This record gives sequence, C-alpha cells and structure tokens, in this order.
Amino acid sequence: MFVLTQQNSIARQYITELRDVETQKQRARFRKNLERLGEILGYELSKSLNYTNKVVNTPLQQTEGHELADEIVIGTILRAGLPLYQGLMNIFEMADSAFIGAYRKEGAEEISIAADYVAAPSLKGKILILADPMLATGKSLVEAVNLLQRSGKAKHIHIVAAVASKPGVAYLEKKLSNISLWLGTLDGKLNQNAYIVPGLGDAGDLSFGEKL
Ligand code: URA
Repeated sequence: MFVLTQQNSIARQYITELRDVETQKQRARFRKNLERLGEILGYELSKSLNYTNKVVNTPLQQTEGHELADEIVIGTILRAGLPLYQGLMNIFEMADSAFIGAYRKEGAEEISIAADYVAAPSLKGKILILADPMLATGKSLVEAVNLLQRSGKAKHIHIVAAVASKPGVAYLEKKLSNISLWLGTLDGKLNQNAYIVPGLGDAGDLSFGEKL
C-alpha cells in the first residue's frame, strides 16, 4: 500500500485544501486538486507497470527508450470519481475507460452500484486502475470490481483513492486478491453514515454541486 502523505510533498497541501471548508468553497479548485492527486498517484503506480524497450531516432542519433507494455483500463464510479479519473487519464492517455453508475439510497449507509449503467471494455489480461476519491467502507468498490470483471479477469487491479479509511482498506484486502492500493491519505474511521472521519465531506457534491 502506497500512502502519499507518508512523505512530505506539495501533495499534502492539495489534500489539506481538499479538506478545508474554506477552500472547498472554490469548486474548480476542489476538482483540480483531485485531478492533481490522480496525476501524482498515477505517476507513482506507473513505476510498478511493465515496459518494453523501444529504439527511436532523435534528430541527432538513434537511442534506446521504453514504452508501456501493459494495456490499461481506467475505471470510475459516476459521478464523484470523474476529477480523479481525469488526472489518471492525463498520465495514461492511451488507456481505455470504464464507467459505472452509482447512487446512495436514501437512509442507506453506502452507495449502491446501478448495474444498469456500465460502459466498459473487457478487462481480460489488462491492468484495471479504479479511481474512487473516497474509499469509505469499500463495499461499492468491491461491487464495482466484480461487475467489471464479469467479462474477463484483469491481470492486476490498482485502486486509487484521495482519502481512504482504515476499515475500508481492511475490507478490500479481505474481499479482493490481486490488488494494489495507491492512496492520497489514510484516515482512521467512519461515522454512522459511512463518511470518512476526518475526511472531507461529500466529494461528489463538492465537485459538482448538491443533488436533488
Ligand atoms: N463518499 C464521500 O464523498 N465522502 C465520504 O466520506 C465517504 C463516501
């Protein structure tokens, strides 16, 4: 498990801004900071991927380089995942995409996956990078992974989250094999509504406005 805030970097400021109710008033900045975390975590996870050698001609001479050998699919759960997804797409611009609809049932502690909206390629033999800004209980992520793998198992699954909870991480590790976690930061607990504490609130509403 990789946790960005375990080292000092500018990313800790982005996460601080995401949490801060004052900075949260700037919705574009909130989305931008999630996008930045997608880029930074995408770069970090790129170190674990496979590459092949590639000879290229510079204007001056031939030289050896390398290029990504893995086929990547970047998935997210609509709508809160979109800014983090965009950051990952900025890094893996050749990737295919997978989208899943989800909603939080009134009074329910956890969002439910709406299996009627799934737009995804087969994952068979590919690398799935799943972007979820808030890894809370982990239940919707496990549902999403199972749904996306119905038409073929991924070679490996990378879960990318801006803020994760310790119980959510434990749940994912129990329920899924073949995963790596790339987290902005790791918080201790959940409240009775399954929000991460201290967390940052509702990532979807803060990115796109409150829903009806
Ligand atoms: N989803 C959110 O947007 N925030 C949380 O704290 C948990 C789930």
